[in-house]
Parts: sequence; C-alpha cells; structure tokens
Amino acid sequence: MLKNDMLEQWDRDNFFHPSTHLAQFARGEAPQRVVKGGQGSFIEDREGNRLLDAFAGLYCVNVGYGRTEIAEAIAEQARELAYYHAYVGHGTEASITLAKMVMDRAPDHMSKVYFGLSGSDANETNIKLVWYYNNILGRPEKKKIISRWRGYHGSGLMTGSLTGLGLFHNKFDLPLDAVLHTEAPYYFRRPDLDMSEADFVAHCASELEALIEREGPETIAAFIGEPVMGTGGIVPPPAGYWEAIQPILEKHDILLIADEVVTGFGRLGSMFGSDHYGLKPDLITIAKGLTSAYAPLSGSIVSDRMWKVLEQGTDENGPIGHGWTYSAHPIGAAAGVANLKLIDEMNLVQNAAEVGGYFTAAMTEALLEHPHVGEVRGEGMLCAVELVADKGARTFYDPAGKTAGAVVAEMVKEGVISRAMPQGDILGFAPPLSLSREEADQIVATTAKAIRTVL
Ligand code: PLP
Repeated sequence: MLKNDMLEQWDRDNFFHPSTHLAQFARGEAPQRVVKGGQGSFIEDREGNRLLDAFAGLYCVNVGYGRTEIAEAIAEQARELAYYHAYVGHGTEASITLAKMVMDRAPDHMSKVYFGLSGSDANETNIKLVWYYNNILGRPEKKKIISRWRGYHGSGLMTGSLTGLGLFHNKFDLPLDAVLHTEAPYYFRRPDLDMSEADFVAHCASELEALIEREGPETIAAFIGEPVMGTGGIVPPPAGYWEAIQPILEKHDILLIADEVVTGFGRLGSMFGSDHYGLKPDLITIAKGLTSAYAPLSGSIVSDRMWKVLEQGTDENGPIGHGWTYSAHPIGAAAGVANLKLIDEMNLVQNAAEVGGYFTAAMTEALLEHPHVGEVRGEGMLCAVELVADKGARTFYDPAGKTAGAVVAEMVKEGVISRAMPQGDILGFAPPLSLSREEADQIVATTAKAIRTVL
C-alpha cells in the first residue's frame, strides 16, 4: 500500500480539485483527506478515522455506503457488457429497465426520461429542450430562463449562469444574458423583518410577475427551481410559495423545470419534491439519488405536452441533435436499477420522513435557544442551522462563511462531517436516507458541542 504522506504529496502536485481553494491547497493549508472506505452512514480515511457523514457525500449517497447489492450489479454489468451507446434506438436491459422504473415513480403527467451523467449536463439538456420546443412551436423569441437568487443548477456554461450564487459565475464570463434571476423564497432573509410569511410569499410572487411584465412574457421560456433550495442554504419554501408561483407561470405560458437533483427519490420524505409540493413541472432534473452516486448518471424527465412537440420536431427536422457518448451508460443504469430497488426494500422514503423529522426537531430543541443560532429549518432528510451575529437584530457575520467553517472544522475533530454552505454562515445536513435515530442524536450532540466551543 502506498504511504499516506506520499499520496498526499502526489495529490498536491498533480490533482486539480473541484470547488477548492487552489492556492491554499497547494501550500498545504487547506484540509486534505484521502478517503478509503465507507459503510452505512460512515466513511473511513486512510489514517483509520471513522466519520459520520451527515452530508452523504454531496447529498447523494442516499442508500448509505457499502451496499453490496449495488456493487454486485455494477460488477455483473461490467462483466457482461461494460458499454454500448444509446444512439439511434440502442438500449441495454439495464437502461430500458431503469427508464421504466423512473417513469413508474415519476408524476403521472410525465412521459419519458433522457439519461445523462451529471446534474449539470441534465440541466443543459433541459435548456436545449426548452429552446427546441419554442422553436418548433414557431416562437423563437421566447427563450429567456428565470432562475432564483441562491438557486443551484450546476457548474456548466448555461447551468453556472442559472446558478444564483456569485462564486459560480464571478470571473468566469458566463453567458448570463439569457438568464433572469428573481427573489429566493428565503423567509429568514426576507427584505423586511416585519413581513409575515404570507406577505413574503405575495412579495416573491409580485417580484416574479413584475420581472415577467418588464421583460415581456413573449421572451420568457421557462422558470427553473429546486422544490427545496439546497446549495443556496437548504431553504424549504414558505407555505403557499409554489401555489403562488405556478399560476403565474401558467398564465404566461412559461414552462416549469423542477430541479430535483437533490430532492428526487425520497430526500424530502416523498418520492419527488414535485409530489411533496404539488408541482406540475414540464421537466424534472434527476441525478444524485438516481444511483445514490454509486456510478454517475442523471436524467431529464419530460412531460407529455413537451414530448408531443419533440416528436413533431423530429418529424420536421430529423433526429434530435443532442446526445452524450455516455448517455444511459450501462454501468450507471445497472447501479440505478439496484439502487431504486434498495430504496423500496429499505423503505427509505418513509425513513427520510420519519427520521428526518425527528432529526430536525432534535436539532431545534438542542440549539434554538443559543444566542447565535438564528434559525433551524428542514424538510425530510435535509436540515440547516443558520448562525447569526446578533439574534435580536438578525445581523450576520462578516466576512460570511468563516463562522460556519469553524464549526464544521470543530465537528470533524469530533467525527461528524457537516457542510458550511457556500453563501452565509449556514451549517448544512443531508445525511443518507438510511440514517438511524441514534446517528441523528450523534449529529445533534456534536453540532451543539461544536457551536458552544466556537461561539
Ligand atoms: N442541481 C442541483 C439542485 C444540485 O444540487 C446540483 C449539484 O449539487 C446540480 C444541479 C449539479 O449536479 P452535478 O454536480 O452532478 O453536475
């Protein structure tokens, strides 16, 4: 086995890590961990540390680590047929079975699933499909996409522009012209502290309506949103938000893209966030929970009404000019089939609702009285603790992020991984859906202790 210090040196010398402070890492000032194994909710590094992963990787290892059923399905697929493409009508038993399993679980008005590799490429696919749709319908000027501030939709050229977090587009010169950002449904950070939740929902709706009127509805193609905002701070919408937004989109013939990369396949305690909030999207983005990240695979689920227009388009123009070499990769598809079976067998959607609810309630009980905890919020197996400099005045730390970062670092010392969300001082939790109550208790106790140490 290679020595740890040698691996760490190779790592610093050769590996360009995503979402990492490159200069600090190269100087050996940033965290570095070589991960070796995982079982259930825990990962293990090469130095033998066992850590409870309260973020399931990047909210993706939904069935937990080390599930041999998925590992075996992957190995069997690799032995039998590691690869064949899905172009011009080709499929494999795994990809066709997975498509059927996805559509059996998707809302009734959805028609077909297109498979990609990552959440980012699935959203790139969605935007291309939206533009194609409006071209086929003879309205080429209806192209702009509305996203929300703090929404996260990926790191590609278009998806990085949709993402409403500056870090992901500042200094990259992304093509922001086709994208319009509107208010995030973030009640804790409402513009006016005196606003009731209902007033704030009305405010979000009127901001959206004003934006549409200003730009002209004939220029706006789609609205993209996560049912519960994830990377922007783990923000469940206030009551009535989606009920207020959807009629505005319908009125102006604007398509809805539900980005369910995090919420799809059970994280909210419902199979999809769209079921959870009564959304009727035209496109649903899926990724992480589709395979629990045992292999890369994503998807764009297309509604009946869009599908009819896509078919019409190919009758008029020939085959759809959109495909990746690895679309519907058999190994990803085999992982997906085994993963969706496990989610059912382990009853994980229900566990996410029950243990997730218990977890957020326990976190609230342990922390809400703390003078620097402004809010504890959650939905299903998602939870956030927002730190504030002054609770009464609801002021935030400056510079933002350092305080949550210090708490996360303290928690790692105590054996629990949480995440400092990228904008603000927000501790994020998105454990595997298989989390037990004892593990939830461990995360809560470690968080409370770390907050008391740092603050
Ligand atoms: N959409 C949402 C809601 C996400 O949370 C993410 C990733 O975290 C993405 C899209 C992008 O997915 P990927 O990182 O697989 O490209």
